[in-house]
This record gives sequence, structure tokens and C-alpha cells, in this order.
Amino acid sequence: MDYSYSKRTDRRVQPPCSPEKTRKEVMAKGSSGMEVILSSLENTRDLQTILNILCILNELLTLGGGRRVGVFVSKGGTAILLQLLVQSGKEASPSEELMLQTHSLLAKVGPKDRKFGIKARLNGALNVTVNLLKQNLQNYKLLLPCLQVLRVYSSNSVNAVSLGKSGVVELMFKVIGPYSKKNTTLLKVALDTLAALLKSKMNARRAVDRAHMPALLAIYQDWHRNDTRHRHMIIRKSILGCIKNLTNIKLGRKAFIDADGMRILYNTSTECLPVRTLDPLVNASSLIMRKCFPKNRLPLPTIKSVFQHPLPHVPASGPVAQLYSQPPGVDDVVDESDDNEDTEIDTENDTENEEDEKDHKGQNDDIETDINKLRPRQILTRPFEELRVFERFFKEFSEDFQDFAFESSKSTSPSSADTSKPHRPIIIPTSRSTAGPWSETSKNKPQRPERADPPRPLKDAPVDLDSISVTKAPESKLELELVQGLSQLLLDGSESVNGGCGGEGPQEEGGEQAVLEVPDTAALLPLHDPDLYLEMVKGTHSVPGYTDVAYPDYFGHVAPNFREPIIERVYGVQRTKIFQDIERLIHPGDILDKVVYDLDLQNCPVIDDGECLKFNSQFESGNLRKAIQVRKFEYDLVLNSDINSNHYHQWFYFEVSSMRVGVPYRFNIINCEKSNSQFNYGMQVLKYSVQEAISGSPRWIRTGSDICYYKNHFSRSSIAAGGQKGKSYYTMTFTVTFQHKDDVCYFAYHYPYTFSTLKMHLQKLRALCTPQVYYRQEQLCETLGGNGCPLLTITARPESASSDHVCQFRNRPVVFLSARVHPGETNASWVMKGTLEFLVSSSPLAQSLRESFIFKIVPMLNPDGVINGNHRCSLSGEDLNRQWLNPSAELHPTIYYAKSLLQYLTAIGRTPLVFCDYHGHSRKKNVFMYGCSIKETVWQTNVSASSCDLQEDLGYRTLPKLLSQLAPAFSLASCSFVVERSKESTARVVVWREIGVQRSYTMESTLCGCDQGKYKGLQIGTRELEEMGSQFCIALLRLRRLTSPLELRYHQTHLLDMDSDLIESRCNITCPTTYVMEEDEPAFLEEVDYSAESEEENELGLDPAHLDPNSDPELNHQDSLT
Ligand SMILES: [Zn+2]
Repeated sequence: MDYSYSKRTDRRVQPPCSPEKTRKEVMAKGSSGMEVILSSLENTRDLQTILNILCILNELLTLGGGRRVGVFVSKGGTAILLQLLVQSGKEASPSEELMLQTHSLLAKVGPKDRKFGIKARLNGALNVTVNLLKQNLQNYKLLLPCLQVLRVYSSNSVNAVSLGKSGVVELMFKVIGPYSKKNTTLLKVALDTLAALLKSKMNARRAVDRAHMPALLAIYQDWHRNDTRHRHMIIRKSILGCIKNLTNIKLGRKAFIDADGMRILYNTSTECLPVRTLDPLVNASSLIMRKCFPKNRLPLPTIKSVFQHPLPHVPASGPVAQLYSQPPGVDDVVDESDDNEDTEIDTENDTENEEDEKDHKGQNDDIETDINKLRPRQILTRPFEELRVFERFFKEFSEDFQDFAFESSKSTSPSSADTSKPHRPIIIPTSRSTAGPWSETSKNKPQRPERADPPRPLKDAPVDLDSISVTKAPESKLELELVQGLSQLLLDGSESVNGGCGGEGPQEEGGEQAVLEVPDTAALLPLHDPDLYLEMVKGTHSVPGYTDVAYPDYFGHVAPNFREPIIERVYGVQRTKIFQDIERLIHPGDILDKVVYDLDLQNCPVIDDGECLKFNSQFESGNLRKAIQVRKFEYDLVLNSDINSNHYHQWFYFEVSSMRVGVPYRFNIINCEKSNSQFNYGMQVLKYSVQEAISGSPRWIRTGSDICYYKNHFSRSSIAAGGQKGKSYYTMTFTVTFQHKDDVCYFAYHYPYTFSTLKMHLQKLRALCTPQVYYRQEQLCETLGGNGCPLLTITARPESASSDHVCQFRNRPVVFLSARVHPGETNASWVMKGTLEFLVSSSPLAQSLRESFIFKIVPMLNPDGVINGNHRCSLSGEDLNRQWLNPSAELHPTIYYAKSLLQYLTAIGRTPLVFCDYHGHSRKKNVFMYGCSIKETVWQTNVSASSCDLQEDLGYRTLPKLLSQLAPAFSLASCSFVVERSKESTARVVVWREIGVQRSYTMESTLCGCDQGKYKGLQIGTRELEEMGSQFCIALLRLRRLTSPLELRYHQTHLLDMDSDLIESRCNITCPTTYVMEEDEPAFLEEVDYSAESEEENELGLDPAHLDPNSDPELNHQDSLT
């Protein structure tokens, strides 16, 4: 092309009228002004005219802001500019002014044009800019716009590779350099360009090979030293950006370590810490250091559980089979390669559709789309002859009460007929005040329930009572006292308990022995009885053969009266903790590394030099495997895996003693697995102090400061990470300051609730039943560990033995409840306790409920898991809530039997009205339900075609809706009724699809707290959980009224209400967070990492709101069902 050089001095095209007006006309909506300008630019050959047009465009776009740039892009301006650039680039000596103007314009347009990178490459513009740059390294006027354009080019990954090949990485290293006050803008653009280029692994490798890592670190240090007034923070941050991208590759991390990067960044960051405005530097450095921190080996010989339980047979496939087939001597703690990224070939091919791909990934492909699988159908997979044996669990269907003495007030339930205890009805308030019922009861009624039965001769009982305390060397005064007190308790049985702090019981002779005053929990806790607890422990079989009893389980727990708010996270906690971890590497001499507790050793060492804490966890539900004193007041703790498994670490329960008062101790649980935790969102751990229990406050309280949860530097073997390599464990850290000298304290993930506690509660419940209650307890089956799994039948005794009454009795609809299939979800047991207490209580509502239903309840589906301190599995090493499709009678007896009972019910035409399995949720707040709906699932899949034809009774929504009106902790907005493929073998889905229960639910209770309703901002406690359980009962009663034939009309009106609610909440249910965060996920579905590798914004604004959508449009419709 030939440009004629004009001699005109005035470079501007004279506008016909005022410049401002022209601009407006040119840019007005619908005007073709921009098109006119672009068309003249495209067609003119006169250099001067071109320059004039470019000049006008520059002015227009500078003043016009983003909107004008948008018009320019939409009219194809980018391509015209790029073509102009490429054609000028072919000139022997292109006009510098033209190049300058074009690049200035491109620098403005580029960031606004999504396809800029591709357009530039396809037009061949990359090389023009690069060549220009190479020839003008000293020409700062031209250099800046060129670099700005280059920065945009580089943000496209394909361009980055191609620019790297043209030597642009090296070119950038020529531009950047040591501290200088000059040309900082230029420097910043060059650094950003370099950082963008180094995102390409190929470029990063080349840069590492050419020793640029030490160079960058040196430049960073130079800026850190000289930029004393912090005027160039952004440049320093950009240097860190380059280092960070280099450390994305293994080679880069190695180069960083070799160049002493850890120390350099640690030291510079420490110096930056006092200046808050330098936080971005500290955070960026921290991120790099964490990435480069050499992966450590978990300090264990194997990740397999310390305790093994021989199985009747090993399943042919699955995780347990894998565990058993692992050859001995194989190191399962670490993998050879800590990451696999460098083995894969550069995948930097043309992926221009990245955006579209991302959009596609937004879809949850776990949603069930097979309509046939979504249609529940009762399938009798087993012949009735086979099911008939389960008839024995349903005596109530044939009971005729002919021999039952209805007149006698002395009569008892069949199961407790042999004892003649007077009945003390449990009175449960239906709606509790926040102050709590127990405290009120205790104030008004200091009298503990009388024990009519004679004191049991505990002396003869073969309880190994020493074990409750004597395993602890009684050297300290308190422990000695405890031991004395406990043996006293032992010898004198309930006398001693009665002689407790109440003071009105028969006092023991010899005051000295009464040192241990067992808290009078009997008055506060009608279901708790320490003696009975010890009795129960005797019949509980654990794999390790525990004989110790943890004090909290023995003394019981009285919920405190004070509020326990969800704590605000202190700014920068995670960073501080991580820096302390990094110091282990920087100052290795300060690290003690002293093992103070280790179950892997034959005789767990008891170090007692007064310099360290003592740990113990060898009691029911305990699961601490190892404790290492890292610094004087800091301990790394390792949790045991579930029995016959090599992972699932979340639940914890252990004892600590020999503490110093007033010193903050830091505890780190270093082998957590979940990628995020409510510990990052205000949840605290639970602590129980024996000193406080003795002085009258037996309770678990929320405690701990500086709590956070983050990815650590302990590598996780691919064997335990579902085959994924390069995974790390997570640290849950908390700090506690002990208040009492010679205390024994316990820490737990959530309020413990052992199997022995359940047995104790059931025995007390039975004893407290009034004659109106029909209460039967039998053994559903025996577990693998040899424990009897209790099955309860609760309903109302018929008024008389008349055939009408008996007929009504036998034909009540069945409600089937279960809990605690996951041992770590102890909150489920507390909710179940609330349900059971309500069901046997003397309230008229409870009586009415009993008269409406027959309750079949399995309060603990996984006793073995609970006893042995598992988090998720049974002794078979499997998640029992993934076995409902095809449970094995041998390996999953509780599930096999529970399902058989349900199958039997269906076979005899008595399909339950409601099925609900109580769970706990570790990642969401509030209490909510998961149910099953075809329509709501189909909506999720966007397969709209068939959805209109589907007929579905909306009854599944009634119960959750009632609960949202009744129970303060319940949130309807968090409920989901979408059926997912990964859940197809859970209780909820199988009972819905196979057994045909329309109202089949999982009820999830938070482990943390609530963010809506009356308890908003508070952590959840046992009182709130128990209240949830009793409100569940009241909701069932209302459900009964709505579903009874007499009130069918009423019911139908409300179904219509439901329909409109459903439509309203449709936008709500399509929000995927309502179900993708569910606890019951496949074990290894890795999720977004909110805590560890994420950027610094995580530290700045921890907002749990995005995890817990709490807007609840339905709360505004409270009137409709009440
Ligand atoms: Zn669960």
C-alpha cells in the first residue's frame, strides 16, 4: 500500500461543526457515525488522514468510556485496526506515529473485546507488535502502548505459548529490573505481561531453566528493601504474581526452594505484617509459600485404621476389598509422585471455546435424568414367604390385649412388666422458652425423681469400675479424689449419687469420702443415671475392648443457659497459623517433635515429665490415634481412620490432662479430609471440664479461639484419595486456655452421644412410660461387633380390649424413623432423643400422636461405628447409607433388617406414611430436609418436554413446610427434593423408589448453627436439637390431621397452596448450592476449595452466605397451614 505523505501542519480533520456535537452524532444510537469513521479508516490510503482518524478515535474512546469502546468493538473496529497494524508492519520503515496511535487504540479496545486475543493472532498482529518492541526497547513513548497491547495478547493461553516461542518472556526480563523510580507504569505492564505469559507451563519451564526464579526473587527483595514508603506496592505484587505462576509447575517449586525462596518470602512478609496496606503482599507470599512447602509424610506407619475387625467375608470389590488386597509392606501413607502435572503433555492447544465449556460445566450432571428411575414403584423383590419371618417385629398388628388389665393403674408396658416402678411421666413442653426447660424444672422442682427400686448391689456387679479412672495414674490430687470418689460410688452404688450436691439425700458417713460430688444430673436430666451408664457400658462391645469410661458420658450433659453465638472470625487468623506452620521449616531447631500419645505402639507411651499434656482417647467413641508435641504449647493430633478403612477423619473425641492454667494451647488436627468446614464459618469445638462438672456444671460448651481450617503440607496418598494424586490433608486448628489446675478436659467435634448413652436413655424412657404408652423394645439384629441394635415400637395402648379399640390400634398408619447411620453425626442422636422423649411424654399432643400412628424407630443404625469412634462407616469399612439398594445380611445387618421390615410392611399393604432418617450436616447451617420429587428433579435437568405431563402429588412438601412453621431451627429454603444419581443407594431414595414411601426424607441438622429464625447467629446446642426432635413429632400430628379422610377437603385446599408455593420457590430450588454441598456426597468428590489455595479475598470477606442461601420466600405464608 502506498501512502502519500501530506505536508499539512494541522493534523486534525476539521469538523464541520463543534467537536462535541459531532461526537454525539457519531455515537448516537442508531447512527452510523462510527461506521462512517471506520469505513473511511479502512478505505483511505493517505497516512495523514489515517493519523487524523486515529487521533479522533483515540479522543472519542478516551472520553467516552466503556460504552463507546463497546460500540467500536461491535462495529468491527478491532479487526480494522489490526489489519491496519499488520499492513503498516509490512512497510520497510513504518510510521512511528501510526504505530503509536494504533497501539494506543488497541490498548484501549483490547481489554473490552472478548475475542481480542484470537482476532490479533488470526490477523497476524502478534509479530508486528513483538518486532516493534524488540526494535524500540529504549523508546519509552512507543514501548508503553506496545506492552499494553502485548499484555492483552498474553491473556489468551494460545497466544502466550506462541509469544513465548518468539522470545517474549526473555524480552520482558530485559524490560523489568531492579528498583527504580523511573518508568514504573511501564514496569508494571511488563510484569503483568510476564505473569500472564508464565501461566503457560511451557513458558514457565523455559523461564525456570534459564534461572529466572532466583532473578525474580532478587528483584522482589530489591524492591522490598528500597520501596521504603510503600509507593510501589502494586509493582511488588506483580513480581509476586510472576513467582506465583512459576511455582505452578513442580520444577518451579523446586527452583523456589533451591533459591531459598521460603526464607526470602517469609522474612519479607514478616516485615510487611505491621503495615496493613501491605496485606496483599503477605497474602500472595503466603500462597506461594504454601504451594512450595515441601510435602510431608503423615507421621504414621500406615493410614489403615489402628484397629481391624475380621469380617465374615470380604466383599469382592470396593474400598474394603482394595484395603484387604493391599500387599503387606506397601507404604500407603505417601505416593511416589506428589503431583502428576508434569507428566501430562501440555494441553495448551486451541481451546477457543473455553467460555462455552465453563458454561456447560455449570450443569450438575449428577441429577437423575432417567424418568424410569424417577418413577417410584413398589417392587416386591422378595417373595412374601421370605418376608414372613419379619412378622415377629410387628406384634402390634396382632395384639388383642385380652390379658391386659386396663383398669389397673399399676399396669405397665409389656417389656417392663416384671418391674414395679411407679410411673413418673416425662413432661415435655411443646414450645420451649429460650431459657430452657431443664433449668426451670430444676428451679421449681429441686427434688430429683425418686428411685423406688432398691439400690442395685453394684458391689456384686462385675463392672471393671477401676477403669473409669484408675487407668489414669492417680498422682494428682484431683485424680486421686476422683478415684476415691468413684470407688466410693462403686461401693455404695446409688447412695453416693443421691448424696450428691443436692444435699438432701442420705448423706454418707465420713465427709472426706464425699469429695467427689457427682452432679445431681438426675434432677436436671431425667434420662441420665451414672450408675445405669456404667451398667450399660458393660454390655457394649468395642473392637479395641475399651474399659475406660469418659467422664462426660458418665456425668452427663446439662445444656448451658447462656447463648453461644457463632463466632466472628478474626482477620488474618489463617495467615497467622500458616506462618507458624512455615516457621517449622524456617526454624527447625525450635520444633520439639515429641510423640506423647501413640496407639500404633504396643504400649501407648505415657510421658509424664510435667512438660507436656497427657492425652487419652481409649473409650467409647474416642478416636485419637497420635499426639505430637510440636512446640511447648502446640500439638499435632492425628485421628484414627474408621475401622477397616484408611480414611474418613472428621469426628474427634479425646481427653487432655496435665495442663497449665492460663496458657493458650494450640491444637492441630492434621489429617482432616473435607475441603472446607464450618470451622471456617464460626463453629467452635466442644469442651467438657471435669472440674466444672464436679462443681455443678456438667456440660459441654463451645470453646476455642483462632479456629480455622485449611489445606496443609501433609500429602495424602492416592490410595486414600480415590486415586487422585497430589492431594493434601487439611488442618483444623483451635486454641484453648485452660481455667482449672489439675483438670481433666475433653474435646469433641460435636456433642458426644455414645451407644451406651442410647441404651441408658432407652431404659429410662421405658421406665418412665405411663400406662397409656405402648412401648416395646426389641433387638432388630446383632451387629458385626456383637452389639444388639435396638428397635422401638411406640404407639398408644388401646382404651380397652374391645374390638373397635383394638382394631383402631392395629390399623394406625406406620411412621418409620431412624438415625445415626453416620457415627460422626452425633447431632442426629440428640434430635432423636427429643423425638423419643416427646413420644413417651404425658402431653395431650403426644397422646394424640400416639393414637394416630405406630412408630417404628431404629434410633442408632450404626452402633458399631458409634462405639469405635468412626466418622462415617460401620465395621465393614463401608458407608451404610450407601448400602440400601442391596444390603448384605452378613456385612450390613442393620440396613438389611431395617429394609426387610419396610419390605414386609409394603408386602402386607402397610407402607409407612412417613420415613425419615436423621443425619447431621457439616457444611450448612440450620436444619432442613432432603426429599424426593420427580417434578423437581426433571426441572433441574431442563428436559422440559415431558415435565408437564408428569403427575405428582405434592404431599412430599407438606412435612417440611409444617416444620418450617413449627421449628425455629428449620429452614425450608435449604430443603431440596432433587434426586441425584450418587444418592440412589441411600435410605431416602431407596425407601421412596423401592418401598414406595412418598414422604421419604433425610433430615439434616447443622453441626454449626443457624442463620435464620429465632436462633439466627447462634451455634446449635443439644436443647435446640432436642426441640427439633419434638417439633418433628408435632409436625407429624398436623400432617395426620391434614391427611385424615375426614379433613380431605381441607387437605386439598392446601395442596393447592403447596402448588403455588412450589411455583414461587422454583427459582429457589434451581439453585445448585442447595444440594451440591450435601454431606452425603460420594466420598471423594472434590469441591471448590474455599479455604486453602484460594486467593486473598477469602481472608478479606468470609461470607458463609453464599453457602447457605437463607432467603425463604415461603416464610411469608405462615398462615396457610396453621
Ligand atoms: Zn449423614
